[in-house]
Amino acid sequence: MRAVAFYEHGPPDVLRMTEIGDPNPERGYAIIRISKTSVNRLDILTRYGYVGLKTEMPHIPGSDVSGTIEAIDEHDSSGLSEGDRVISHPLITCGLCDMCKSGREILCREWQVTGRETDGSYAELAKVRISSLVRQPKGLSAEEAASLPLSLSTAWRAVKSLSNTEDGDTIGITGASGNVGIFATMISKALGMRVLAFSRDKRREAGLKRIGADLVIDSNLGKDGIIREVMDYTDGYGVNAVIDCLGADIDTCVNIVGDGGTIVSYGTLMGSGAQIDMREIYLKSIRLVGTHVSSKSEFVDAIDFISRNGIKPVIGKVLSIRDAAEANRLLEKSEIFGKIILDMDSG
Ligand SMILES: [Zn+2]
Repeated sequence: MRAVAFYEHGPPDVLRMTEIGDPNPERGYAIIRISKTSVNRLDILTRYGYVGLKTEMPHIPGSDVSGTIEAIDEHDSSGLSEGDRVISHPLITCGLCDMCKSGREILCREWQVTGRETDGSYAELAKVRISSLVRQPKGLSAEEAASLPLSLSTAWRAVKSLSNTEDGDTIGITGASGNVGIFATMISKALGMRVLAFSRDKRREAGLKRIGADLVIDSNLGKDGIIREVMDYTDGYGVNAVIDCLGADIDTCVNIVGDGGTIVSYGTLMGSGAQIDMREIYLKSIRLVGTHVSSKSEFVDAIDFISRNGIKPVIGKVLSIRDAAEANRLLEKSEIFGKIILDMDSG
């Protein structure tokens, strides 16, 4: 099959269009024929590599598997069959450890992510567990389905499961014009919240307002400027929750969240080192909670929620799979508002 893979860690140029043997069908697995996939920050992290990551070479990146079932384990009883259109949940769990057995698969001792530890979606075919598959809802295009797995599952768990918010609350979203931030903004709005979207890029203001941001705050204002804007908007109370992907600026999040508020951290885009004034944490009874991806059942709920609420993924650009390196470059530079889709059919 055709695939884009890297043979060594490094910059986007290490991505190469190549021919690789088809994945073999296996007990409990399905082979998915992919026509579109999309690009995530995780692809970049995996490509550069980091301490502790074990990657077999050549490695096919990409966490967003969706498409048509090409082959499926004949013993399977899921009701899915060849030709069905499906989307794959990207978290891979062992099903055997104490966490999996006690219903906490998100904390699986052996957890992996499609395209990070395993070969991923920059390919014509991908082998995924049947238990990861969700039927693609009608009314969703191939591009839209391809944009969901990693970004939607992360955003949904952060906002719906962990932010401890309700209808009428105010939520702040840092890096709001990123892949997860866009979904978090749309989900928060649909849940009835007032949304403060933070972005460093002035060009994103109109787009963020269009998808539901009530106020777009320029992250370049710096800590004091941001606190002033948030306090002005919330009558001095602060927001009920912050969804944060920046990491290093967590101190600002601590300052803008109000009494009993929650900070959900899912990234370290600005660096992983941070200093927090712990007095703010205990005097305001703040909860700080980390997350990544979601459970399978949360992913099913998320897809159902966006379908029922008419939430359409924002597609920023569609490129041929041959331009996977360029797609990675554009994402690294945050040049595109919305998902960057790779089209396997035009490769
Ligand atoms: Zn497990």
